[in-house]
Amino acid sequence: MAKKYIYKYTEGDGKNKMLLGGKGANLCEMTQIGLRVPPGFVISTEACLDYIANNRLPDGVMDDVRAHMAWLEKETGKQFGGAGNPLLVSVRSGSSMSMPGMMDTILNLGLNETTLAGLIKLTGNERFGYDAYRRFIQLFGKIALGVDDHHFDEHFEAVKRRAGVKVDLGLSANDLKDIGQLFLKVVQEQTGRPFPQDPYEQLELAIKAVFGSWMGQRAVDYRREFKITPDQANGTAVNIVTMVFGNMGNDCSTGVGFTRDPGTGENVMYGEYLVNAQGEDVVAGIRTPKPVLEMKNEMPDLFRQLVELRNKLEGHYHEVQDYEYTIEKGVLYCLQTRNGKMNAAAMVRSSVEMANEGLINREKALLRIDPESLEQMMFPQLDPKHKVAPAAQGMGASPGASSGKIVFDADTAVKRGRGANEKIILVREETKPEDIHGFFAAVGILTSRGGKTSHAAVVARGMGKPCVVGAEDINVNVHQRQAVIGDVVLHEGDIVTIDGGSGRVYLGEVPTVEPEFTPELRTLLGWADEIATLKVMANADTPDAAQRASNYGAMGIGLCRTERMFNAKERLPIVLEMILAETTEDREAALAKLLPMQRSDFKEILRVMAPRPVTIRLLDPPIHEFLPSEQTLVDDIEHLRHLRQTAQGLEAISQILAQANPKAVEQLGILNDSHLVSDVLAKKEEILQKARALHEINPMLGHRGVRLGLTYPEIYKMQIRAVLEAAAECIQEKVNVHPEIMVPQVCTKEELMRVRALVDEVLPEVEAKYAVKVHFEFGTMMEVVRACLRSEEIAEVAEFFSFGTNDLTQATFSFSREDAENKFLPFYNSAGILKDNPFEALDTKGVGQLMSFAVTNGRKTRSGLKVGICGEQGGHPRSMRFCHYANLTYVSCSSPRVPIARLAAAHAKLLEGNYQP
Ligand code: PEP
Ligand code: MG
Repeated sequence: MAKKYIYKYTEGDGKNKMLLGGKGANLCEMTQIGLRVPPGFVISTEACLDYIANNRLPDGVMDDVRAHMAWLEKETGKQFGGAGNPLLVSVRSGSSMSMPGMMDTILNLGLNETTLAGLIKLTGNERFGYDAYRRFIQLFGKIALGVDDHHFDEHFEAVKRRAGVKVDLGLSANDLKDIGQLFLKVVQEQTGRPFPQDPYEQLELAIKAVFGSWMGQRAVDYRREFKITPDQANGTAVNIVTMVFGNMGNDCSTGVGFTRDPGTGENVMYGEYLVNAQGEDVVAGIRTPKPVLEMKNEMPDLFRQLVELRNKLEGHYHEVQDYEYTIEKGVLYCLQTRNGKMNAAAMVRSSVEMANEGLINREKALLRIDPESLEQMMFPQLDPKHKVAPAAQGMGASPGASSGKIVFDADTAVKRGRGANEKIILVREETKPEDIHGFFAAVGILTSRGGKTSHAAVVARGMGKPCVVGAEDINVNVHQRQAVIGDVVLHEGDIVTIDGGSGRVYLGEVPTVEPEFTPELRTLLGWADEIATLKVMANADTPDAAQRASNYGAMGIGLCRTERMFNAKERLPIVLEMILAETTEDREAALAKLLPMQRSDFKEILRVMAPRPVTIRLLDPPIHEFLPSEQTLVDDIEHLRHLRQTAQGLEAISQILAQANPKAVEQLGILNDSHLVSDVLAKKEEILQKARALHEINPMLGHRGVRLGLTYPEIYKMQIRAVLEAAAECIQEKVNVHPEIMVPQVCTKEELMRVRALVDEVLPEVEAKYAVKVHFEFGTMMEVVRACLRSEEIAEVAEFFSFGTNDLTQATFSFSREDAENKFLPFYNSAGILKDNPFEALDTKGVGQLMSFAVTNGRKTRSGLKVGICGEQGGHPRSMRFCHYANLTYVSCSSPRVPIARLAAAHAKLLEGNYQP
């Protein structure tokens, strides 16, 4: 039996989106649950893949299409190509993942000179008929015959000028008739053939064009950017749907809606409609439509039907829907529905509200939100205290505030945004699907036309980029590369700020502030915490960062790197003193100056986090990292020598010095000690000698971490004392703190035992000094392969493990992140040699195996062993599923990723049943 490629809406399986595409599957489902959908059928994605593979339609498909058209003629009582009651169809694309505007759709197919006459006679509406014809010729010409839009647009604008009208609606039937004839000529000129009059020829060309658009540049780019893989969407289906008309008169209309407000998630009727118009007018932003609530007064009965449709859609799909409808002579048809693309704030609010309304359960409320999307809710907002007056007001289409330099086309946005790394706001009258690359490169989008469901709004919302649309006070002139607001003329490169929440546009840069959690996000993450078993900690090195992590709901600090504290400006001279020290006594003297500074940092962090745990890691990097590079030192010395020869007096030289290289001078604290160039030079020479002595062939694998701590025990002792004294002071002040001391780069149990001995030496001194008992935990980083292999004995000393998967990944692959990412990793990924970047997504098959081995064996020794991960992969949702599976206790990630990780931890629990590492 021949393969089945075609399914009527009355028979297709509404769940099979891979086969029928999202649109086709939903049209089947809506038909089958009794919603009013124009009759039609869908040609499957399999036919598309065959077409692309063989460059021709599969055998028998066109015969089957004819048979289905005959069925459609019977269903509708119309004839395809007939003059009496002509059947017109739309030919629509639709893959299993929604890719708004990326593939092609043709409307009014079946029109030719004969059917046009029939249509006009039937409707008694000449203007409508000619309008439909000219739209069809242009759309078909562009999509199926490859004729560029501008050939049509020139004629269209010329007729508009001739008729003296500004808007399309001002054109008369005769104008439109002329336009149709001009368009037919355009097609003849551009293709060398007359416009096809045979409706079946039209249909076949249209089907091929829609199938072909799957491999079109736009669609390919979009899939690459959004990482849509063939197992998510493979080929587009083609829907052949009976045309219904929203442009037959004033009892007709067309509209799009969301079952909830996609900007905020609020449970309200949301959408826009246009009376006497076709769907593309709304989406293309050519006319600014009316808010749906106006329909309540204008067409109350239809409004009631629309509310009913909306409720049925949500009640059936248990998900916010983005739907399109047409009202033809008072009858409401639903043309399409799909899950609504909303920004993260709206997803969160609608999740919480749908769960509270009983429409979905809490699990679904959590699972319908992509954890990564919460990053959008961390977008800056305009500082509420700013006093800048807005220059223009549009509609807020996608929230968040951003400032950037304006550009007027997508290519320039890419050149400046991606190429020159500038912050760009893309400014257009309206956007089209071919502008998509400009969206990726911009930090915000601003249009002067179109509504909240225009292309710009939909795409920006999907990407979570701030967007303002319909700012009609702005006159955008792309050709002159300027935008005029009142008497202000803005040129390319001028800075504006847009607020995608309020729709306001400001000249210049307006200050922004960190966002606050919405109450719904708090609720949702509270539900996530109740379900998740994996805890979420933060990597934070300063009291400020700890406070931020705490605000985001971190359950503790999993990694406090202490080296960054050494890098503070006023501390570097002391660190330098420590490095230059020739004797242990001199080194201890320098360390004694650092002690109170570290103690007060630790105290603040412990206090902010109390009573949650704070894991403080002893010094990790090699100490030469705190010195300027050898090259800088050599250059400085040469420069100084040169100055000494040419300048006039020592006083003058030191002034020049301070100006010549203030940073190096200040950084090394030299000028405070001496104004004599010879002293400065001598010091520099000394530092250079030290830098040379400390030089390592391979510093990442060199004298660092615990190896440094054991060769210079006074450094670790100072840090251990700082932690314990900070805790003791908090305890004295009745603050319930939980410090943990963590040792980096451990390979052997012996190393850990020796550091533990240092702790045991310092502890009684601290306890005696403060007269309190200090409770703490002692553990190790697991970032060396040997430590993972010897975890069973390491757990005899370590009370917790924390996987440092940055180093562990480097060690397992034997390549470093920087070299890999700059040199060969992009090639490895695109050539499919490695699927992911292992420094972003945990390599579960290699590094993960080491982790699992270490967890299992570590817990043989210490059954309750606490195990975490603090490498970059710790905040990556997919990697977290592995961490959950491998029975880790917690993940630790940077503060802004904490909300993402809290949701991902709940996902990991909810989806544990179907996880494969
Ligand atoms: C690690 O190696 O994963 C880690 C957290 O340590 P660092 O990144 O500081 O080397
Ligand atoms: Mg490390």
